[in-house]
Amino acid sequence: MRGVGQSPTVLKKEREGDFFMSKYVAEPFRIKMVEPIKMTTGEERLMKIKEADFNLFNLASEDVYIDLLTDSGTGAMSQEQWSAMFLGDEAYAGGRSYRKLIEAGRDVFNYDYIQPVHQGRAGEKILMPLLLKEGKFAVSNMHFDTTRAHVILAGGRPIDNVVPEGKLPNVRSKFKGNMDVERLEELIEEKGDKIGVIIQTITNNSAGGQPVSMKNMAEVYNIAKKYNIPLCIDAARFAENAFFIKRDEEGYRNTSIRDIVKEMFSYGDMFTMSAKKDFNVNMGGMLAIKDDKANSDLVQNIKASCINFEGFYTYGGLSGRELEAMSVGIYQGMEDSYLTYRIGQMEYLAARLDAAGVVYQSPVGGHGVYIDAKAMFPHIPYYEFPAQVLAIELYKEAGIRSCDIGSYMIGNDPDTNEQIESEFEFTRLAVPRQVYTQAHFDVMADALIAIKERASTIERGYKITWQPPILRHFQAKLDKI
Ligand SMILES: *Cc1c(COP(=O)(O)O)cnc(C)c1O
Repeated sequence: MRGVGQSPTVLKKEREGDFFMSKYVAEPFRIKMVEPIKMTTGEERLMKIKEADFNLFNLASEDVYIDLLTDSGTGAMSQEQWSAMFLGDEAYAGGRSYRKLIEAGRDVFNYDYIQPVHQGRAGEKILMPLLLKEGKFAVSNMHFDTTRAHVILAGGRPIDNVVPEGKLPNVRSKFKGNMDVERLEELIEEKGDKIGVIIQTITNNSAGGQPVSMKNMAEVYNIAKKYNIPLCIDAARFAENAFFIKRDEEGYRNTSIRDIVKEMFSYGDMFTMSAKKDFNVNMGGMLAIKDDKANSDLVQNIKASCINFEGFYTYGGLSGRELEAMSVGIYQGMEDSYLTYRIGQMEYLAARLDAAGVVYQSPVGGHGVYIDAKAMFPHIPYYEFPAQVLAIELYKEAGIRSCDIGSYMIGNDPDTNEQIESEFEFTRLAVPRQVYTQAHFDVMADALIAIKERASTIERGYKITWQPPILRHFQAKLDKI
């Protein structure tokens, strides 16, 4: 075991299994444009977080040193993406950039109808009302917060159904993002045709960016077919998921990421996707349907809804240059060297946390490290939001912005208006793509270790003084208890 202060690069791991790396994987790129960031003083940060009503979404980004609020749209694009942007065709209808993206999308995913949208939730907004209404349910391995919101806005009710080990941060097993297939069949037997859609989220963001295995994707697809329920893949981190299948699932080590992706998407009828994740663009999304002939009504309704909410269906709320960046990112996001480096960053931080006994959702997932705030602050109850407490402490400690993926985020029951107790209290350190270096990761680790050391002195959590009815964590105001 290594103590704090020793060089982390020489750290040797003593973990069970053969699928963990701990040495920092050197960047497969060099940097040719930089953006200055600055560290504030502890005193300044205390003032800023108070002014922000203890909601990290209210901070000005200049007041943040390392921004781990999200990996969504925050990555550094490649030189190929930037140069493609100059080729953007800004035609309102029938643009060249649109056709290029559709061609790339069909090539990679093999779906018949592809609709660009401005981001993932726009696809959800269009699709969910076409599948759900009052009295219907959506069953997912876990709904992401915007997906949950759009299920509810469509009149439906979300049911989360991840495998039991997915809820146990300390249990280090593979594919903790999987759907619980046994329970899925029970739910279907119970609710009959009230289930409007099954949603397979890859990777499982709310469970810690945990991957879903190919076997699980196939099983869930077969169940959906058996009961004739539409299966939608929430595909934001499809490339990271494919990387885990290649690394950890029996029989895929010698399969290319491209082929793994094709097989993964064969186990769905449709997908919604935030391209701000694995296409590594600052803005973009996709909605796709596998068979446009069998579902032509659905496709027509998607086009109509897109025109109403997003813009004409050949641009879907995006500029031609953004469509171009997506057409390049779709391929670059699947490169082996890039994915090895990216997952390596998470493994590196995880290894430092292991050495210090900081508990996180393990093994680490694809896009961030989810710290178990329940383990850090066992004395703070869910209704005082321990994961939000840790997020605030990380900001105070080192100017790091993270976010709560716990009871604070999950909000109130839409029927009873009571605070829901989340399965987890995670503080998510989401890692932007190709942005931060090894030294930044050491700042993160040092800050977490320092907070762990003084955790018992933080006695109480926070209360909400104002909140909107849905997706409250983005806007709510809090105060110390
Ligand atoms: C980010 C994300 C979304 C929503 O996408 P936006 O681009 O933020 O609107 C939906 N599902 C998952 C799993 C996500 O990670």
